[in-house]
Amino acid sequence: MPAIAKVEPLTTARTLRGPFDYRLPAALAEVEVGALLVVPFGRRRVLGVVVDLASESSIPPERLAAPINALEQGVPADLVRLAHWIADEYCSTPARALGLVLPPGAGTGPSPRVRARSALAAELTTEGAAALDDRARLGTRQRAALEALRAADAPLAAAELPGGHATARRLAERGLVALERRARPRRPRHESVGSAAPAESPPLTPAQAAALAPVEAAIAAGRAERLLLHGVTGSGKTEVYLSAAEAALARGRSAIVLVPEIALTPQIVARFAARFGDTVAVLHSRMGRGQRYDEWRRLRSGEARVCVGPRSAVFAPLADLGLVVVDEEHDASYKHEGDPRYDARRVAQHRAAAAGAVLLAGSATPRPESWRELPRVGLPERVDGRPLPPVEVVDMRGAAHALHPRTREALERVRRERRKAIVLLNRRGWSNFLSCRSCGRVWECPHCDVALVLHRAEQTVACHHCGHREPAVERCGACGSLSVARHGAGTERLEHELADAFAGDPGFPVFRLDSDTVAGRGGAAGLLTSFDAAGAGVLLGTQMVAKGHDFPDVTLAVVLDADATLRFPDFRAEERTFALVAQLAGRAGRGPGGGRVLVQTLAPEAPSIARAAHHDAAGFLEDELARREALRYPPFADLIRVVCASAQPGAAAEACGAVARRLGTPPAAAVLGPAPLFRLRGRERSQLVVKAGDRAAAVRAVAEAVAAVAADRAHRRAQFSVDVDPQ
Ligand code: ADP
Ligand code: ZN
Ligand code: ZN
Repeated sequence: MPAIAKVEPLTTARTLRGPFDYRLPAALAEVEVGALLVVPFGRRRVLGVVVDLASESSIPPERLAAPINALEQGVPADLVRLAHWIADEYCSTPARALGLVLPPGAGTGPSPRVRARSALAAELTTEGAAALDDRARLGTRQRAALEALRAADAPLAAAELPGGHATARRLAERGLVALERRARPRRPRHESVGSAAPAESPPLTPAQAAALAPVEAAIAAGRAERLLLHGVTGSGKTEVYLSAAEAALARGRSAIVLVPEIALTPQIVARFAARFGDTVAVLHSRMGRGQRYDEWRRLRSGEARVCVGPRSAVFAPLADLGLVVVDEEHDASYKHEGDPRYDARRVAQHRAAAAGAVLLAGSATPRPESWRELPRVGLPERVDGRPLPPVEVVDMRGAAHALHPRTREALERVRRERRKAIVLLNRRGWSNFLSCRSCGRVWECPHCDVALVLHRAEQTVACHHCGHREPAVERCGACGSLSVARHGAGTERLEHELADAFAGDPGFPVFRLDSDTVAGRGGAAGLLTSFDAAGAGVLLGTQMVAKGHDFPDVTLAVVLDADATLRFPDFRAEERTFALVAQLAGRAGRGPGGGRVLVQTLAPEAPSIARAAHHDAAGFLEDELARREALRYPPFADLIRVVCASAQPGAAAEACGAVARRLGTPPAAAVLGPAPLFRLRGRERSQLVVKAGDRAAAVRAVAEAVAAVAADRAHRRAQFSVDVDPQ
C-alpha cells in the first residue's frame, strides 16, 4: 500500500526541483495521483499536486513531513501527465505547467478561493400531504409553504418557500417536509448574437456529410486521427463540429471544442448550448470564479460531457475524451503569452493522441503547418450556395485620404440601400504617432523605444506595448513649438470621420469595436448585439471585426491599410495578412443582399493580398510552403526564441551572448543572433533564434544553456524567457 506521496509544490521558483516525498497519514491513505494537498514546505504552507505514489522513500520516514490536508477536488491523472509534457516541451517547470490544469480558483495558495455552492431543498412528505388534507393545525406560513410544495410537485429551495428557512425547519421537525442539502452550481448565461441558435440539427448538406464521415468513422473505431476541415467562410463548419460532438457522445465519449477569444464568438457558444443543454460546460475568463469552478466540477463529475472554451479549455477535466475541435485554427490567440508559453493547438494534438481521440482543426484560412501535416476534408462552398463576394483591390499609392473615393462611394451606397458594412483597420487610437514640425522630435514612450499613440477622447498619448499613458500636450517639450503633426489614422479617428460623414442620417449608426471600446464585462457581445439589432449601419474596428461573426445583412466589407501586417519583420507576416483579408471578406454577402469587398493597400501586388482577393487559400498555401521550405521556416524547422532582458545597460546583450556561446550550434540547427530588440518596459532586450531540425534535442540544449547562464552570478541582472514555436 502506498504510504508516500510525491508532491510537486506549486511555487514559481525556477531553481526548485521537485517532487518531494511526504508521508501519508491514515486519513489521507486514499489520495490518488492528481490530488491537491496543502503541505508544509520550509516555513510555509503551499499547495502541491500529487504526481506519483510510492510505498517507500529514500528518506527515513521520521524525517518526512505529512500533508496538512487535501482539497475537495483533485485533477485527473492524465492532466498531470499532460502538464509534465508541457513543462518539457515549452522549457517551463512542472509547477508552472501544473498551474494550468488546476480547478479554477485553486491558485497556488494553501486555501482555495472558491467552494462548491449548495442549498437546502425541501420536499413534501406523505405526512405533509396528509396534514394539508386533514386540515391539521398549521401556521399561515407553514400552510402556504406546504401548498407551494404540493403545487410544484417537486423539491423547492427552502429559502424560496413562504417563511423561508425558518418555516422549512419547523416543518421538518414535525416530519411534514424532508430537507436535503443539494449542490447548486452557478451556470453562465449564453448571450446569443445574430440569428437564433436552433436546437435541432438541420439535415447536413452532401458536402457536410462527406466531411463528417471520416470523423465519425475514426471516433467509432477509437482511432486517434487528426483532420483538417478546410471550409470557406459560411460553409457550415460549425454544423460539422456539432455533429461530430454528437457522434462522440453517442459512443460514450466526451468532447472539447476550442474557440478563439470567447467574447468575440458568442454565436458558437450559443449554438452548442442550444444543441446540448446541460451537457455543455463553458469555461472562460470573463465568467466569475464561482461559475468557472462549478462548470469545472460538472465536467470533472461527468455531468457535463462537452466543454466549449478558449485555449485554456484544452485542460478541461473530461474523462473518455473522444473528440477535440480547434475552431478557426489559424487564430493567434491559441498561443499563450506567459510561462509556460504553450500553443493550445499542439497541446490539443498531444492530448487527443494520448486519449485516443480525434483532433478536428477547422478554418477557412488554415496554417501552412496544418495544410502540410493533416489529412484534409473540405467544404468548398457556402451552405446557401451563394458565391463568395467579389473582392476589389484598391491601390492607395498616392491617395490623400484614409478612405479612397471608391470606398466612400461604396459606404454611401450601403447607407442608401439600408444595409450594413464592416470596416477593418488594425490600429487603435487617433493617430499612430506625433512629431514636432519644427525640430522633428517624436513623442516616445519613456520605457519602450516606440512611438506613443494619440487617444483623443481621453486626451492622452499611450504606449501600446507597456500601457504607459501621459496627457497629450499641444507643445513640443524639446523646442516649445506649438506645431505638432499627427501621422496616420487609427480606429478612433476613423470612427469620427465616418460619424461625421453620416451625421445627417441617424438611422445609420457607426459602432467601434476595439479593445478600447470593449473594456468591461460583456462589452464586445453588447456591441455586436447592437450592431445586429440596428436596421443599418457600420461596424468599424480592429481584427476583432474579422472573427467568425455571421450577420446576414452585411453587404460590404472593407479592409484599410491591408498591408500593415506585411510590414512586420516576421516570417508569419504573409500568413497573417492573407488570413485577415480572407476572413474579413467572409463576413460579407451572407444574405440575399449579396456582397462586395474592398481592400485598400499600398502593396496591391503582394501575393498574400492578391491570393486573398481571389479567395485562393490553396494557391496561397502552396506558394507560402515553398517559400518556407526554401528559408527553412516552420513547418520545415522548429523555432525556439530566447529573449534576455535587463534594466542594466549592456547586461541583456551579454547574457544573450553567453547563452549563444554555451549553446554552440546544436546538431541540425542554425542559431541566429544575438540581435537587439527594442527596449520594453524600461529593459533592454536581446534575442537569439534557433532553427532546429531535431526539435526535442534543440529544446533540451536551449533549456540547459539558459539554465546554466541564469545560474551564473555574472548574469544575475538578466531575465530569461524561452519561447518554443514563437508567434
Ligand atoms: P462556418 O462555421 O463555416 O462559417 P456555419 O456553420 O456558421 O459556417 O454556417 C453558416 C450558416 O449556415 C449558419 O447560419 C448555419 O446555421 C447554416 N447552416 C449550416 N449548415 C446547414 C445545413 N446543413 N442546413 C441549413 N443551414 C445550415
Ligand atoms: Zn520641437
Ligand atoms: Zn511603453
